[in-house]
Amino acid sequence: MAYDQNNVFAKILRGEIPCDKIYEDDFALAFNDINAQAPVHVLVIPKADYVSMADFSANASADLLAGFFRAVGETARILGLEGDGYRLIANTGSNAHQEVPHLHFHILSGKKLGPMLSR
Ligand code: 5GP
Repeated sequence: MAYDQNNVFAKILRGEIPCDKIYEDDFALAFNDINAQAPVHVLVIPKADYVSMADFSANASADLLAGFFRAVGETARILGLEGDGYRLIANTGSNAHQEVPHLHFHILSGKKLGPMLSR
């Protein structure tokens, strides 16, 4: 799947759409989800054009892979989530109901989240 420069997270990275920023470094941007599914619901995206985890894991440089995953962990630390814990989700493709075609990790926390999947 080719990267779509008009997806909403590309627009956020270009500053065309505002976001409620939590953390930013050279590799990643983290911001609150506009439609939170938990008391804490933050999205972390790489600052590069990757559609999904499939694309990113196959094609990103070692520096970007490392920097992005450090940024995910750093965001959770900044949010103070390490004590009580948190859940990471990266929906990839249609089975997982990925809506935005730019890789993103959801960080979910702030309460007991229950079973991993709805049934
Ligand atoms: P997906 O289903 O692709 O894993 O998740 C996409 C997420 O992006 C959803 O949780 C949705 O609420 C969030 N989202 C969609 N558009 C925007 C937006 O313009 N701003 C922010 N902050 N989040 C968005």
